[in-house]
Amino acid sequence: MITVEEAQGILRAAAVRTRTEPVRLERALGRVLARDAVSKIFMPPFDKSAMDGYALNSKDASSRFRVIEMIPAGVVPARIVRKGECSKIMTGGMLPRGADVVVRKEWTVEEDGRMRIARPDDGPNVCLKGEDVRPGDAVLKRGARIRPQEIGILASLGIGTVATYVPPSVAVIATGSEIVEPGRPLRPGRIYDSNSYSLAAQAVTCGALVKIRRRVADRPALIRKTIADALDRCEMVLISGGVSVGDLDFVPGILRELGIGLKFEQIAVQPGKPTVFGTRRGKIVFGVPGNPVSTFVIFEVFIKPVLMRMMGLEEAPIFVRAALEKDLVRKKTERAAFVPVRVRDDAVIQLDYHGSAHIQALSRADGLLYIPEGHSGYGAGSRVDVRLF
Ligand code: AMP
Ligand code: MG
Repeated sequence: MITVEEAQGILRAAAVRTRTEPVRLERALGRVLARDAVSKIFMPPFDKSAMDGYALNSKDASSRFRVIEMIPAGVVPARIVRKGECSKIMTGGMLPRGADVVVRKEWTVEEDGRMRIARPDDGPNVCLKGEDVRPGDAVLKRGARIRPQEIGILASLGIGTVATYVPPSVAVIATGSEIVEPGRPLRPGRIYDSNSYSLAAQAVTCGALVKIRRRVADRPALIRKTIADALDRCEMVLISGGVSVGDLDFVPGILRELGIGLKFEQIAVQPGKPTVFGTRRGKIVFGVPGNPVSTFVIFEVFIKPVLMRMMGLEEAPIFVRAALEKDLVRKKTERAAFVPVRVRDDAVIQLDYHGSAHIQALSRADGLLYIPEGHSGYGAGSRVDVRLF
């Protein structure tokens, strides 16, 4: 058995394959940039009015200004603004030569083609050419996730196609003769398969492509065939159930038969101790214990970072620090623990949590509280770090 930190070290050291491809902006959401996005243009591309108003020279102390032109957005001004003159300008309009400020319309009076300033303006109300971005600026870095705001940024720079990492393909296999497809009747002794759905959803949330989601009974030949097929078609294979010490826990043996080099078979962690991890020719395989909270937590803590790397994502988990509402103490300390908790108004709130089968607790949880190996927990009021989902 290895520690959480050792397991994380092994996973960080595992080589993963990444491929890149160009995609059009409308298909880029959720992808990860495979190259820095470098601007070819100035932003703004010209000195631009930030207001509807009158463009004039700030040194001009005239009491009235003759309005010489009207400048809508998108039009190049025809006239130079001289002493005693101004040009009416719309938001986004190009500042005319001779002017360096815009007086907002609301603070002026215009009569008979002349403008008078009723109240002095406090700002230049001009966005200068290149004040946001200059040509050659790496506006977005390789490894950044493309969210709606990045889509907007890329579009604003005129970049219509970006180099991105290809989302890894994932297979999810739920083993267990007792598990039943949701929607079907539940016979005595059976339970619904939640893991194939939750694991697939977790992988999709990371941006992966789930190509296979399958249930398979605890029959070695079937499990073997299903895993072999998944390995042919997908880059990562996630298997739930059948990894523990029971008579029907066939998965680790089958993985060995299939030539997968197992890098670990147990982690000193609760929940999720019998987690197995192996590789074969660049393909990644995880076997996780079948209890739904174990499956979920092991994905969050151990599988997600590997999947993120396969996506090209260089992103660390987000932690928040807050005070524990009540004592959180445990008797057994030989394993590290991840406890689902809720974070509200600077307080870490413990949930009604009955253990690794109690998946309902996860719906009220915002993240996981880590208790290291050998540590009995924390007292009320302690400031603790919660790893957000
Ligand atoms: P196992 O890891 O196969 O020993 O399963 C541990 C526990 O998790 C058992 O109570 C199983 O019935 C349950 N379990 C296994 N697979 C699933 C699944 N796909 N969805 C929900 N529960 C499961
Ligand atoms: Mg089982």
